[in-house]
Amino acid sequence: MAGAVWAIGEIVEGAPTRLTRELATLARQLGEAAALPVAAVLVGPDAAAAGALLAEHGPDVLAVEVDPGGRPTAAVIAERVAALVRERAPAFLLVGASNDGKDVAGILQGLLDWGVLVNGAGVRWSDRGPQVEMSVFGGRLVTQSTFAADRGIVIVRPSAVTAETAPAAGQVERVVVDPAIELAPVRVVDRVAEASAAVPIEEASVIVAGGRGVGGPEGFAVVRELADALGGVVGATRAVVDAGWIGYAHQIGQTGKSVKPQLYVAAGISGAIQHKVGMQTSGTIVAINRDPDAPIAEFADMMVVGDLFEILPRLTAAVRARRG
Ligand SMILES: Cc1cc2nc3c(=O)[nH]c(=O)nc-3n(C[C@H](O)[C@H](O)[C@H](O)COP(=O)(O)OP(=O)(O)OC[C@H]3O[C@@H](n4cnc5c(N)ncnc54)[C@H](O)[C@@H]3O)c2cc1C
Repeated sequence: MAGAVWAIGEIVEGAPTRLTRELATLARQLGEAAALPVAAVLVGPDAAAAGALLAEHGPDVLAVEVDPGGRPTAAVIAERVAALVRERAPAFLLVGASNDGKDVAGILQGLLDWGVLVNGAGVRWSDRGPQVEMSVFGGRLVTQSTFAADRGIVIVRPSAVTAETAPAAGQVERVVVDPAIELAPVRVVDRVAEASAAVPIEEASVIVAGGRGVGGPEGFAVVRELADALGGVVGATRAVVDAGWIGYAHQIGQTGKSVKPQLYVAAGISGAIQHKVGMQTSGTIVAINRDPDAPIAEFADMMVVGDLFEILPRLTAAVRARRG
């Protein structure tokens, strides 16, 4: 098991995304556990500047400066990463489970003919290389998998690790790479920004989430008010997103976002496994539910049994009174 572990990152507005920082941290942790070299790869117009920020998490950064020129970001990244992989022969690639990251991993699989382990909720080093924890069958089963080969691509979910800076930063190496293959041109015809909270839900330190217990779209008013009072954002279960009570950008869970706030208030949420997998790593979980036997009672740090329409407004008033 000799080759290096690489984190394949993404740049948004000139900086590495939070998920990219998590991947760099994970690569460093795996490299330390396995005594293997690690690196992060950034491809984009600001790769070297973004690379300096990413290097704070430990790995050396290979920065490939390129202007995508309107081509899909994932194709531009994957073509160059594939060429770099052929040149430098790393063994394992960590790619983020973002929209572009999943495309990058899929294209890389095609170009390199490597295996992919998807949806990694945790990755640790084993004597067979990276061992990837995945939640399957709608969250009913948690599996641990390794690659049959001595190389592979791991798609890592957000919040699988916490991004941490390293005692010693890595170096940024500007790399010029000639993609051996330019993928068939695809044209992006439109980009639509989804309306969502000012702070992306994955980055929020406080989330107040509502479930079917809020009773309808108007029921989210009490959830929103507490979120505002706490300086947090509003989350939701799939049940209420499917019902059209709130947008998908708020959905937390297996088929939504993975979040890791310091405080997670779950109001009128039963705590189904598919919801739990997206929020169980939150700092403190406070559940408000009128059913004392709701599954969420098993993993909440604090459970308030009662009607959310009585409790949330009182909590909001108490928070506002404290904050003056
Ligand atoms: C493949 C698959 C993927 C899925 N992905 C996701 C996902 O990403 N995210 C997700 O959330 N779900 C997901 N689900 C759905 C999941 O299984 C649950 O159905 C869903 O999480 C339940 O949402 P809920 O807690 O809002 O509703 P319910 O389970 O109906 O719970 C409502 C809760 O509100 C309480 N309540 C009712 N009224 C009040 C009141 N006035 N005050 C206080 N409490 C009240 C009830 O006691 C109950 O516990 C997925 C399911 C499948 C099969």
